[in-house]
Amino acid sequence: MKVVLIGVGQAGGKLAQRLAQYDQQMGFGAVQGALAVNSAKADLRELDLDTVLVGQDRVKGHGVGGDNELGAEVMQSDATEVMDSLDGRITAQAEAIFVVAGLGGGTGSGGAPVLARELNRVYQIPVYGLGVLPGRGEGAMYQANAGRSLKTLVREADATLLIDNDAWHTSGESMGEAFEKINQNIAQRVGLLFASGEAVEGVGESVVDSSEVINTLRSGGIATLGFASAEAAEDAEANINTVTSMTRKALLSNLSLPNAIEADSGLLVVAGQPESIPRKGVERARKWLEEETGSLQVRGGDFPLDSGRLAALVLLGGVERSERIEEFLERAKEASKQADEPDENPAEMFHNDELDDLI
Ligand code: GDP
Repeated sequence: MKVVLIGVGQAGGKLAQRLAQYDQQMGFGAVQGALAVNSAKADLRELDLDTVLVGQDRVKGHGVGGDNELGAEVMQSDATEVMDSLDGRITAQAEAIFVVAGLGGGTGSGGAPVLARELNRVYQIPVYGLGVLPGRGEGAMYQANAGRSLKTLVREADATLLIDNDAWHTSGESMGEAFEKINQNIAQRVGLLFASGEAVEGVGESVVDSSEVINTLRSGGIATLGFASAEAAEDAEANINTVTSMTRKALLSNLSLPNAIEADSGLLVVAGQPESIPRKGVERARKWLEEETGSLQVRGGDFPLDSGRLAALVLLGGVERSERIEEFLERAKEASKQADEPDENPAEMFHNDELDDLI
């Protein structure tokens, strides 16, 4: 899938850069362009990307602190400038735009939903959010910011792929080490997802296509990505159990949003040497995913990759009913000091006033 990335805020810029670098190192050619937008000059200076500074008249290049309402305002005021700087970058080949941001801060949290709305007005291709949720240990401000940002981003983007900062790293690391590990994992895993529709060799019926990623995200709302890999045997028959157990691991212990397994739609991509990918294994794993997620729309496909390992990527769309989201929204709501009782169905929280919209 050919994508253009727009990183908003500090985490957004870092992640857009990491994704672009990974894509380039691997020679995938899925990332067509990457741009970083921020209200903090110092954060932009650290990046090796084209950048746009917003809110200079209001915050003089010093950032918005943790004020995501101000983040939304400065993005809105400078939306024309940001959209102008995208001219020519969203090429005719681009199949999707990803707005990347940490949802707990200020500029990315407030700016990402505003930018998603502007992009959706202008471009025909889907505009997705790639959002980072604060971990449980992060303070109340981060939780409250992320709650309002997520609610608004889900409304404005065609779908939002969420990464929980508590997933994709081991416990006991310092915050800096954990971010480094998470960013590396995001670059590799989301990078493989982007590239999975780009396969050139072994073009055949079973090879996954960009449209399958887009169709999986068509239900909108929140999406999550799972990943696992294992050593491959040369012979496909010998890899049947490897594929099924990798798929189990990707879903049950390695989702970007842990335990968000109840889904509207799914896609299983098995990456590796084409001759080592077992058809039977992929089909069995796909069926198992249908049972586990309760979705009757689990697609499956191969991603031919020159590697001695096999990898399973599991993309789930429409997971906003999950317990994990319910728990997060509770945290965010509490942090926002709103005393109302929670809804039975967390998806409802996106449609009522328990969390204020940002814009
Ligand atoms: P902004 O510059 O105002 O948009 O703020 P940040 O991008 O620093 O957003 C803060 C949120 O993003 C917090 O919830 C942090 O946990 C998270 N965050 C900051 N930097 C990173 C990073 O490098 N990696 C990850 N995964 N999360 C980050």
